[in-house]
Amino acid sequence: MSARKGQTDCVFCKIATGEIPAKIIYRDDEVFAFPDINPLTPVHILVLSVKHIPSLADMTDKDAALVGKMVRVANQIAREQGIARSGYRLTINSGPDAGQLVPHLHIHLMGGRHLDWKH
Ligand code: 5GP
Ligand code: ZN
Repeated sequence: MSARKGQTDCVFCKIATGEIPAKIIYRDDEVFAFPDINPLTPVHILVLSVKHIPSLADMTDKDAALVGKMVRVANQIAREQGIARSGYRLTINSGPDAGQLVPHLHIHLMGGRHLDWKH
């Protein structure tokens, strides 16, 4: 399958289309989620828009409901992972100074242990 609906050079668009494998744990028409390949915490899941938005800085007013839905899905996954009450962190890295590596909007859902600031 090709990355027909997304950016052909985007790794997360290729995961969205199945061209690159990942363990998809949530999927609907707008949002999908899979575990980070390099987990920094016991629970480390990426929650993404299906639509290719390069970064949070590229979000427009039209995307507000979509980003809200991404947060809602992240909360739902946190419950399913059993970390809703123990606690978790949602992080969006935007741009080089934040260390954004993949230019496709995504939320890091991290938890499962005590999180020091930024780690
Ligand atoms: P960023 O630094 O852009 O906020 O985060 C990108 C994240 O995507 C990193 O934590 C990295 O481990 C993860 N990642 C990069 N490529 C892949 C991949 O092909 N599969 C999965 N599951 N995660 C990836
Ligand atoms: Zn993309």
